[in-house]
Amino acid sequence: MTDTHPTTRPTDATYLDEDLDLPTELLNTPWIDGHNHAHTLSYEDRERYALSGCAGMVMVSSGYHWTPYKPVRASDIRYLWDDAINRRAAIERNHFFEAKLGLGVHTGVRIEDPDAVLSAMDEYCELDEVAVVGETGVTPSQHVEAWDLDEQRAVVEAQMAIADDHDLPVILHTPNTSPPAKRSYRPELGTPGYEKNPGLGTEPVIDGDNPALEAVRIDVEAAHDAGLPEERVIASHADENNTAYLMEETDCYLSYTIGHSWLVGVDAATVADAIDEYGPERIMIDTDCANVLRTDPYAIKRAMFELYRYGIDPDDIRTVVWENPKRVLGLDG
Ligand SMILES: [Zn+2]
Repeated sequence: MTDTHPTTRPTDATYLDEDLDLPTELLNTPWIDGHNHAHTLSYEDRERYALSGCAGMVMVSSGYHWTPYKPVRASDIRYLWDDAINRRAAIERNHFFEAKLGLGVHTGVRIEDPDAVLSAMDEYCELDEVAVVGETGVTPSQHVEAWDLDEQRAVVEAQMAIADDHDLPVILHTPNTSPPAKRSYRPELGTPGYEKNPGLGTEPVIDGDNPALEAVRIDVEAAHDAGLPEERVIASHADENNTAYLMEETDCYLSYTIGHSWLVGVDAATVADAIDEYGPERIMIDTDCANVLRTDPYAIKRAMFELYRYGIDPDDIRTVVWENPKRVLGLDG
């Protein structure tokens, strides 16, 4: 207790611990968002990334959310890739962070002629701006029309082989298990905050007790068959359902998606628990920010402070938000 304050009588300040050591380095620690769809966001959202210290990002262009026709054709996927290529440099020049691309074939909707887009993918992967193949990975059920599991797996494996040829990592969209809802919404309205027409989901093509985990196991097998080393696989949307498997039985990287915690229940506490248990060496965080979702461009910056509050060391936070993604994604930094 100190009595140096000239206040009339003691205030809280009289009793405070003077030796508190706050992690001011976190105010300026650079960070990378290794999985977002920032090219679909507003200018203001991309500016928010820059204002909060983002040094690099991978803008993933593969999602069926942005292809109007269902089922999807190869030419629709090519359009998405070309759109991202078209605008990437302008985004980088406006906001100064390093903006790279992820190009892939998503399996959330069946693609009628996947070979046509896979045969073009090789040339795209030679581009300097392409840092990652994905997001991809088998999914238990599709939008509008189911896609046979063997066909999905073949498309995933083919992309992994192309990634390996070009020494690129692959981003998996490992399916999340949703936290229990307090109450269901009217089924005809779907989930507010996720702009996706409800009622168009198909029957699952992966059975069993835990299809979300089974999907990741199938993806890891596909990587083996493609000759892609496990350490070149980034399991985005890592969660409590798949962390133990990925950490204990594989060498994959785990990227926890925290930009829409309200939807999937994964937040800084989940990440802190994983760091406590397994160390920071194979852990990253991403936002998955996209215009079809209620997402937060500040999510990584907020999580950096929150991880510290949860007891994580600032050096480990830096490893997770900067060192790991810089190395794994091959960004300049
Ligand atoms: Zn995504």
